[in-house]
Amino acid sequence: MGSDTKRLAVLGSTGSIGRQTLDIVRSFPERLRIIGLAAGANADLLAQQVEEFKPELVSIESSQEQRKLKQFNCEVTTAEEIASHPDVDLVVIAISGIAGLKPTLAAIGAKKSIALATKEVLVAAGSVVTAEAKRHGVRIMPIDSEPSAIWQCLQGEAKTVRRLILTASGGPFRNLSTKKLGAVTPEQALAHPTWNMGPKVTIDSATLMNKGFEAIELSWLFDTPMDNIDVVIHPQSIIHSMVEFVDGSVKAQLSIPDMRFPIQYAIFYPERMLNETLPRIDFLNMKSGSIENALTFEKPDIDRFPCLRLAFEASRKGGTYPAVLSAADEVAVDRFLKGQIRFTDIPRIISEALNGHRGTSKPSLEDILAADDWARKVAAG
Ligand code: MG
Repeated sequence: MGSDTKRLAVLGSTGSIGRQTLDIVRSFPERLRIIGLAAGANADLLAQQVEEFKPELVSIESSQEQRKLKQFNCEVTTAEEIASHPDVDLVVIAISGIAGLKPTLAAIGAKKSIALATKEVLVAAGSVVTAEAKRHGVRIMPIDSEPSAIWQCLQGEAKTVRRLILTASGGPFRNLSTKKLGAVTPEQALAHPTWNMGPKVTIDSATLMNKGFEAIELSWLFDTPMDNIDVVIHPQSIIHSMVEFVDGSVKAQLSIPDMRFPIQYAIFYPERMLNETLPRIDFLNMKSGSIENALTFEKPDIDRFPCLRLAFEASRKGGTYPAVLSAADEVAVDRFLKGQIRFTDIPRIISEALNGHRGTSKPSLEDILAADDWARKVAAG
């Protein structure tokens, strides 16, 4: 193992981002080594990953599944222990939802570099997480195409920014009426036109809540007021976001929509690495979404997709409101996926939770967790 080998922990290794992270690791066997893997309940896939990557540490959330890991010659522990283990340099946090918060804080406390895919961590607890990261001198790098695009555009000139322009695919229901939105099924919502992602973020993309979360994430990562963040629908998902500077010049970052780009960028930052397995843009034969050889832009419709508005409102109110937004969304999306509520009930449930909440300004971690807990009960109906 060379001195430029990075030692990684991947939390959420059996999810979509986790699997794609391991794909990047496969491409760089000389530079990347897996020290720890943590999963939720998919013990069979985790076992395959353990056999292939031979980590020192492994964790699974589900207690029934733990016995399946006994056969391996590695220490069975918790996600938080893995995140703070002395042998780890970089922690990839790809656990879905607020469950990613405590491992993130554990990694920050142990001064690890963090590649964060779980945007709920910054949405719900941005004030606490960024203050802790600052205190410990820890860099939080986004693993998500749009925040990564903004980060890449800001390299070397973050001081003369006028606004951040977040692009959104618009999801599979971009052109449906509110009436038709009421009848969409989980299967339709899970069929994203351009991105291959886990179920929670795919539904969040269909409601546009995902874009609201990304805006809140950016406001924390790059210390930007929400009023300086615009959202533009770009159905082809080729431009991943843009930065407008004070002189009116705009920088954009482009690639084929593939999550391995932002994953690789965060893992090797600030190095750019040759990876022949990543797809290249062919500008003369672009096929993405329904339109060929064109990049188009539209205004998001916040009447049909109120989640985007709710996210901006919650962020402006601040305090514990974004934690309520995030928790109510997690519950509402889960209920939609189980067939218990309609697609259009998702923003209604979140809105009711936000309206019923009595917020705390300058919240502590305990305040945030209490707001999260309260919102989950309200959203569960
Ligand atoms: Mg994204």
